[in-house]
Amino acid sequence: MVLAPRHISVCLISLGCNKNLVDSEVMLGLLEREGYSFVTEPEEADVIIVNTCGFIEAAKKEAVETIIAMGAYKGQGRCRSLIVTGCLAQRYADELARELPEIDALLGTGDYHRIVPAVEQTLAGRHCCFIGPPQARFPGQWPRLLSQGGPSAYLKIAEGCNNHCSYCVIPQLRGPLQSRPQDDIVEEAQALAKLGIKELVLVAQDTTRYGEDLYGKPSLPVLLRRLARIEGICWIRLLYCYPSRFSPELIQVLREEPKVLNYVDIPLQHVSKRVLARMNRNQTKEEIRALIKRLREEIPDITIRTTFIVGFPGETEAEFAELLDFLAEVRFDRAGFFVYSQEEGTPAAAYPDQVPEREKRIRYDAAMKLQQAISAEKNRQWLGKELEVLVEGKGPEEGFMVGRSYRDAPEIDGLVYVAAPEVSRGRIIRVRITGTSEYDLRGEIRGESGQ
Ligand code: SF4
Repeated sequence: MVLAPRHISVCLISLGCNKNLVDSEVMLGLLEREGYSFVTEPEEADVIIVNTCGFIEAAKKEAVETIIAMGAYKGQGRCRSLIVTGCLAQRYADELARELPEIDALLGTGDYHRIVPAVEQTLAGRHCCFIGPPQARFPGQWPRLLSQGGPSAYLKIAEGCNNHCSYCVIPQLRGPLQSRPQDDIVEEAQALAKLGIKELVLVAQDTTRYGEDLYGKPSLPVLLRRLARIEGICWIRLLYCYPSRFSPELIQVLREEPKVLNYVDIPLQHVSKRVLARMNRNQTKEEIRALIKRLREEIPDITIRTTFIVGFPGETEAEFAELLDFLAEVRFDRAGFFVYSQEEGTPAAAYPDQVPEREKRIRYDAAMKLQQAISAEKNRQWLGKELEVLVEGKGPEEGFMVGRSYRDAPEIDGLVYVAAPEVSRGRIIRVRITGTSEYDLRGEIRGESGQ
């Protein structure tokens, strides 16, 4: 007997970054269009989909462990089909097919739109493997089912990367830069606004390069101005900017467009000249310092987030100390750290002077500790001041709502806990800050924002 899709329940587990989450939401949209129903518990699912990340060692480990754990439901629960999609499938299709026979279908990063035939084939008892070249597929081409239920949504503006940092496998997994047409992005943003989304979070591997391939020049400033015209959208947030492409036009848009938040995420990875050169990153510490100075001069309340890699091959103690000194000097509002991961197929993996794991950990802990103190001090400066907060829902404590200010990107930064009676999700309120910790703030409601 062949069951209609509405009798078939699907559980999708999305691992990795927010760009992967957008792909997951497209798969959910495609399945919903065919009538499939969804469950959050894998034991209740007929079909389990694991959308994987394969970027660094920790992500690969998490993905493989999840696949194995989900495979157990094929023997014990009602699951009849286990489908693996995303970066790990793209990178290790042969190994996964060989080592994990419980997998029924593999879909690469350019093939996730084939999820419906994959589900149909596997439920009919046939294995399938759709792994082509990493071709960009954007939500505008297909339906997308938002999975997070909050007032924010990620908006994917490009896929792939042309930068070829020596440690990074992304260009192999996601291909070269492939920008999404502006009209298509604006159309999706308008549709998101109609659904009640208040904040757009722009994502790509390198957002500052947006448009180079389609329009012959970086076109992010133009795109931002168009998005800022959309009624209902109150905040537009920019992630993953490449430092040497942060143009004066982009700074001008941040300054002039009130909806474009005074928040930027600029992954810097390191500051030592020799390490940056070996990373194949085309900027210097002096250029980075000048960019931050300019941003702070032109936009005094700018929040700058960055990430660094510690323990890159050949990073000496002196070079690591240089990174710590820079952190102490520049005092980023937000900084995240990655322990270098030796990824096969990347130039840096073959560098002879790999840093021992234990040493990498020590450096990671030292950088985290320093940044925690900076972050706590930066937060303390907000005591007694007012911030606008986008309400996400009820807080864990009775009588508190939880939300984020312009200083906090969803999922990666802190939260603001607001002593307030019921405030509906998606409203923007003014909050006076009454308490601070390393990452989060507490406050009391002062009124509605003008937005
Ligand atoms: S810019 Fe980012 S995605 Fe592109 S190669 Fe460098 S680290 Fe990888």
